[in-house]
Amino acid sequence: MVDKKKDIRAFTKEQLRDFFMNNGDKAFRGNQVYEWLWVKGAHNFDDMTNISKDTRAMLEANFVINHIRVDHMQRSNDGTIKNAVTLHDGLVVESVLIPTDTRTTACVSSQVGCSLDCKFCATARLKRMRNLNPDEIYDQVVAINNQSKHYHNRKLTNIVFMGMGEPLMNYPNVLKAIDKITSDEGLGMSPKRITVSTSGVPKMIKKMADDEVKFNLAVSLHSAIDDVRTSIMPFNSKFPLADLREALQHWYSKTKKIITYEYVVWAGINDQQKDVDALVNFCKFAPSKVNLIEYNPIDDGIFQQATEKAINMYVNTLEKNNITVTIRRSRGKDIDAACGQLANKNDAVV
Ligand code: SAH
Repeated sequence: MVDKKKDIRAFTKEQLRDFFMNNGDKAFRGNQVYEWLWVKGAHNFDDMTNISKDTRAMLEANFVINHIRVDHMQRSNDGTIKNAVTLHDGLVVESVLIPTDTRTTACVSSQVGCSLDCKFCATARLKRMRNLNPDEIYDQVVAINNQSKHYHNRKLTNIVFMGMGEPLMNYPNVLKAIDKITSDEGLGMSPKRITVSTSGVPKMIKKMADDEVKFNLAVSLHSAIDDVRTSIMPFNSKFPLADLREALQHWYSKTKKIITYEYVVWAGINDQQKDVDALVNFCKFAPSKVNLIEYNPIDDGIFQQATEKAINMYVNTLEKNNITVTIRRSRGKDIDAACGQLANKNDAVV
């Protein structure tokens, strides 16, 4: 039986150093290969020009580099770029570059599909196929960083885990990817510029707090009333708001970081005064910020953006209660690249 080749990017630098030492070479060779893989982004062993031909052949015989392939890219008329990213096993995820005057943000995926069943989200219609590996997450960021440099003459400034999947259901790999993104041997970005968005998995929020992570947390709340939340985010029956709140209290006590809530106001669902009162009540235990996200229709007609009057009611009530509120306009809607629209619909190639 032929041994399966190993994914070389699952190896730490130490492990690579050991590998070379155990094979009669110098440990330093491990550093060189590691640099090719993570700093220079080599896709092939033959790209590693300061490594001898024999060593490259030996690597080729033992390992594979499972690099992602960005082979389908769409550009929105607002400058947003959506990438269809093919993984080594042929599965596809999406990632998005969102430029503004002052920032370039990468929105990356953490899973192929999603196991949650938020009724308003297009990704929820795709079955969860598998978790992404740390390097598959990291590669998305590198690809978008390159696009940012190419199209906007500047490096990526921010990263949000708001693409496909629930990052806290792939926590170990998300953490490893963020380690790489923030390390000097990777992209050297500040964790303060990274936000992990979750639908709210209490146990994992507590774990993040205990791990003393340095990146930011955003919670997709959408309602602070259990019945309403369960009707639009059915997993809420398993993780009710009281548990979520307790976990967030723990997060705040450990990190002292402001908590961001993402919230869409829909007509006839959560557009009444009682809804915003419940939201105020839910978030008053810690400094909070509410991002009111514009709804991006996913062609089912059930959900509709609330009226401007309802949005103003939210803004006024939140401000009166000293809760920061921002209204987030959608980006990349014309190419299905906005929040909740990622569902592998890739029409126009640019
Ligand atoms: N699973 C994670 C991250 C992916 S979703 C989470 O739930 O946070 C990223 C954000 O887009 C979440 O706040 C989600 O609630 C929101 N979203 C999903 N579908 C949407 C839609 N159709 N319109 C606007 N926002 C949506």
